[in-house]
Amino acid sequence: MNQKIVTRFAPSPTGYLHVGGLRTALYAYLVATKSQGDFILRIEDTDRERYVADGIQNILESLTWAHITPNQGVRLENGTIINSGPAGSYIQSERLPIYKKYVEELIAKSHAYYCFCTPERLEEVRNYQQEHKLPPGYDGHCLHLDPQEIENRIRANERHVVRLHMPDSGETKWDDVIRGEVSFKNSEVDDQVLLKSDGYPTYHLAVVVDDHEMNVTHVIRGEEWISSTPKHLKLYEYFGWTPPAFAHLPLLLNSDKSKLSKRQGDVAVLDYKTKGYLPEALINFVAFLGWNPGTEQELFTLNELVAIFSLAKVNKAGAVFNIEKLDWFNREYLKKLPPEDLVDYMLTYLPENYREVRDREFLLRLAPLLLERISKGSDLSEMYTAGELDFYFENPSYDASLLLWKKLSDTNESRELVKKHLSEIAKILMSEPHSNDPEKIKSYLWHYAETNGKGEVLWPLRVALSGKEKSPDPFVLIALLGQNESITRINSAIALL
Ligand code: GLU
Repeated sequence: MNQKIVTRFAPSPTGYLHVGGLRTALYAYLVATKSQGDFILRIEDTDRERYVADGIQNILESLTWAHITPNQGVRLENGTIINSGPAGSYIQSERLPIYKKYVEELIAKSHAYYCFCTPERLEEVRNYQQEHKLPPGYDGHCLHLDPQEIENRIRANERHVVRLHMPDSGETKWDDVIRGEVSFKNSEVDDQVLLKSDGYPTYHLAVVVDDHEMNVTHVIRGEEWISSTPKHLKLYEYFGWTPPAFAHLPLLLNSDKSKLSKRQGDVAVLDYKTKGYLPEALINFVAFLGWNPGTEQELFTLNELVAIFSLAKVNKAGAVFNIEKLDWFNREYLKKLPPEDLVDYMLTYLPENYREVRDREFLLRLAPLLLERISKGSDLSEMYTAGELDFYFENPSYDASLLLWKKLSDTNESRELVKKHLSEIAKILMSEPHSNDPEKIKSYLWHYAETNGKGEVLWPLRVALSGKEKSPDPFVLIALLGQNESITRINSAIALL
C-alpha cells in the first residue's frame, strides 16, 4: 500500500511571513495536494523570547490571501483561528507534556543528559574555543555526572537543561531529495539543548517529535536547516522511528548573489498585497524561485502548479529574487482581470471621489491605458501623488507657454499660429462622428497635422488635453475623453493664449 503523503509548513511566529516562508509553504502544499495527501500547518512557538504577538495571525492571513490552505492543523476559517486534526493541538506551546515524556525516554536510555552549566561557563567555553580556533559546541562537561548528584541538584532547583548526546565518532548522512547525499561527522555536531530551563523544548526536539506524531512523510524546508538535520536524524534513531524524507530548498539571493535582503524584496507577504500584487502573481513568481517546469511556459495557476510541480525539478543553487520579474508576472495577471475588476482594483489606489467624478464607461476606457504604465496599484498611487493622473479626472491647469512646441519661440505670432491650429482641430472634431477608437481619431486629424507640421499641431493639442509635458498621445486622449470634452479643453487652451 502506498503511504499517504503528508507535508507540513512549520513557521515560528518570530515575525511576519516573508517570501521565503511563502515559498516553503507553497512547495509543501503542492507536494501534498498533488498526491491527495495532507498539508499541515504547525506553529513552532517554543522560542518564547522571540515570540511576536500578532505573528500567528499574520502568517495565517498571508497564507489565506495566497490561497495556500492547510487541511490539518492551524488555519483561518472565516477569520477565526482553527487548530484541529488527529494530533490534537498543532501549536507547540500547547504540547509541552508530550515533549517532556519523550525527553524522559531519551534520558532513561542515556541518549540525552542533564546539563547544569551556567551561561557564564558556556561563555567561557565559547571564548576559549574561539581563541584556540577550536570548533564551537558544548564541551561535554555534564555528560558524566553522577546520578545522585543530578538528583540532588534538580531537587535543589538548580537551573538546568537537557542535551542530546551525539556520538563522538561516525557520521550521519541522508539522501536529500534536492541535494542528494549529505553527510556530517558526528564529532562536529553539537550536543544540542533539547529541553530548555524554562521547560520548553527547543525547536530540534519539538520538530522531530511532532513530525513523527503527525506522520509527516516529507520535511520541506529552507537550506539553513541542513546543519540541524543530523541532530534530528539522531533523534529519530534514538527513538527508533523511521525518519521522513528531507528536502532542503535553495537560498533566496539578491541579484548580487548575497543573501536576500529587505531592500531587494525580502519583505512581509502582506506588504506585497498592500502594494497591489495579486496573490496569483506572487504565487506564480515564488514557485519559480528555485524551480522551473523545464519548458518555456511561465504562467501557471495554483492548480496547474499542483499538477506539474515536482521536488525533483527544484535546483540546488540559490534562487535570485528579481523584483522586475515579479512586476512582469503581476502585469500579466492584471491583464487577465475582467475589465470591471481591473477598474475596481485601480480605484482602490485612487482618491475615493474619483469613482463619482467619472462614469463607469470612462473608467473602463481609462483602466487599460493606465495598465500600460504600471505594474501594481502602488504605482498608481505614486502617479497620483506626482500629479500625473489629475487630468484624467478634471480640467488641467498649466502655463500657456507649455502650449508652444519646443521649436517655437514665445512670440505673439507663434501664439496666433497655435491658436489657429487648435481651432482648426476643434472644427474637424466637431464635424466628425463620435468615436472612442484612437485610430479613428487619428484618421480625422492626421492629414491636418501632416500638412501643417506634426510638432506644431500635435504638441499643443496634447498639452491642451493633458496640461502635461508628457502624456499619452492626443489621439488616445481624445478617444478617452470624447470629442465634446476634448473640444472644451481645446477651447480653454485657445482662451489661455
Ligand atoms: N520553525 C522552523 C522555522 O521557523 C521550521 C523549520 C522546519 O521546517 O523544520 O523555519
